[in-house]
Amino acid sequence: MLVVADVHGNLRALDAVLEDARIGGGFDCVWVLGDLVGYGPNPEECVTRLRGLKARCVAGNHDLGAVGGIDLRKFNHDAAAACAWTAERLSESSVAYLRGLPLRLHVPPFELVHGSPREPVWEYVLSAADAVRVAGYCNDMHCLTGHTHRPVVYSMEAESAPDVSVTSTVELGGRLLINPGAVGQPRDGDPRAAYILYDSEAGNVRFNRVEYDVDGAAAEVLRCGLPQSLAWRLHAGR
Ligand code: ZN
Repeated sequence: MLVVADVHGNLRALDAVLEDARIGGGFDCVWVLGDLVGYGPNPEECVTRLRGLKARCVAGNHDLGAVGGIDLRKFNHDAAAACAWTAERLSESSVAYLRGLPLRLHVPPFELVHGSPREPVWEYVLSAADAVRVAGYCNDMHCLTGHTHRPVVYSMEAESAPDVSVTSTVELGGRLLINPGAVGQPRDGDPRAAYILYDSEAGNVRFNRVEYDVDGAAAEVLRCGLPQSLAWRLHAGR
């Protein structure tokens, strides 16, 4: 299984991930942990690409913001501007698709959400203590989340130090909360697109990073008239 989060309308990054995952052994299905759109210049293309792959997706705050499901005053200035821009670029079909996304998906042994199992749309899980606090709301052994744009694994049973490096394999054991990091706007200081591959037979997940055309994506952000900071962030990985 290919597991991605926070694609954010960055088609170059998404296509690089899809190609890298295919080269690395392939995948039979794609799970998306929300924020298909927002920030990036290719929202319609990203939705179309993921729908074409029959990806199983949950909704993120930016998906809901772009289709009128959340008041844009809840977003910061640049995020709200990008949501409004995105709303004008989505086809009717993509709007209906994003509106229809569930907030949670249960795919044993995982529950998939965007933010946290306690509050799937907005809550950030930023520490081991946070992971333990929200564990009781997760309806299966493990939780897959996005939203922070940082790859990480936390134990939901005991406050442990984050246990992940960008190319590590993590065996599933105990109760874990796993964030693959962001495809389209990484924020851990590494501008490469992030994703994980879940091997259900081996019972592990493998963290991956792949380079993509950051210059091209940043240039298109500026060409589209999106906030300049959104181009800068792609280069910085912040
Ligand atoms: Zn996001």
